[in-house]
Amino acid sequence: MYIHIPFCVKKCDYCDFNSYAIGSVNESEKALCRYIEALLEEARIQSEAVTELGAQVSTVYLGGGTPTYLPEILLSSLLTEVFRLFPIADNAEITVESNPGTATYRKLRCLRDIGATRLSIGVQSLNDSLLARLGRVHSASDSIQTFHLAREAGFDNINIDLIYAIPGQTMDDWEETLDSVIGLRPEHISAYGLMLEEGTPLWRKVKSGTLAVCDEDLEIDMYYSAKEKLSLAGYQHYEISNFAMLGYECRHNIIYWRLEPYIGLGAGAHSYVKREIRSNLAHPQDYLRSIKSVGSSVCEREVFSKADEMSTVMILGLRMTCGVGESEFHRRFGISMRDAFGEAIAKGVANGLLKWDGDRLKLTRYGLMLSNEAMQEFL
Ligand code: SF4
Repeated sequence: MYIHIPFCVKKCDYCDFNSYAIGSVNESEKALCRYIEALLEEARIQSEAVTELGAQVSTVYLGGGTPTYLPEILLSSLLTEVFRLFPIADNAEITVESNPGTATYRKLRCLRDIGATRLSIGVQSLNDSLLARLGRVHSASDSIQTFHLAREAGFDNINIDLIYAIPGQTMDDWEETLDSVIGLRPEHISAYGLMLEEGTPLWRKVKSGTLAVCDEDLEIDMYYSAKEKLSLAGYQHYEISNFAMLGYECRHNIIYWRLEPYIGLGAGAHSYVKREIRSNLAHPQDYLRSIKSVGSSVCEREVFSKADEMSTVMILGLRMTCGVGESEFHRRFGISMRDAFGEAIAKGVANGLLKWDGDRLKLTRYGLMLSNEAMQEFL
């Protein structure tokens, strides 16, 4: 289950997620309350559907936005009610996303006490001038402080999100951040290359020539440097951009990459149940209005054909370094992967992007960097 909190202290300069600076939508504490009320209304309705399915919720991911921007009382009433409404598995993974400087010890302790098992911190870089270039509101020392507070509050499963290929970032800058983060020993590290999203302030600076994008070769070197440093430090590279100590892989994201059923609550959230993708209205005010008036905010439904599902299983599954198993695929679809995608596989293997490893089809080391090229053949 994914729950979306679309509010942030300020919009970062590279961000095109469905998130809103609290000032820009005139959000006061009252408005945050109204949003949580609507979320809980949607949760009540969705919980009936989940109960009817006889399913259990194995992971909950409170993402954003910045969930830890919510006051403690709202965070605790939201999670407590969700745990009451849904059949949550005993060993469920409960992740909360946080940004440095938005979580006090008390708030983190409260989250841990309610049942959060995992904290994901948006650190992005430990270089203050690069953080300023990204328009982040926090400093490197805020990130380190939040990490230590989380440990003190009892979080023994922490993810740190990092970004590389920031305009102006050198290899030394990136490796310094990597070394410092490795020194903290979080259980999980995500490292994403910066995407320049059209219309964002960062994109405008690059368009106008004020900033230069990171050189492509440097970006590739940064990726391989992360892969090597993190492997040496004991992190398993289990997905294109994700690294974890053994047993700390993000179970929630693995559900997406395996295209297993999930439900999403909140503005812009998606659900995938019985081959149907449902999307909620994106803007919090539209979401609120719609939940209030008709008890749902679904604005789009798309039913996947078997062929759509097969393509998606390949495209998402290949993101994981364990790849996609031929026998798993056959069990799920009643057809062999080679019969369904013979041409795409042959082309990927011939181009050095894909390889067979026993029963499993995987991206090669080269394919990890050019994954889009390998995957588009499965569309
Ligand atoms: S904290 Fe995350 S979601 Fe919020 S504006 Fe920055 S990048 Fe976007």
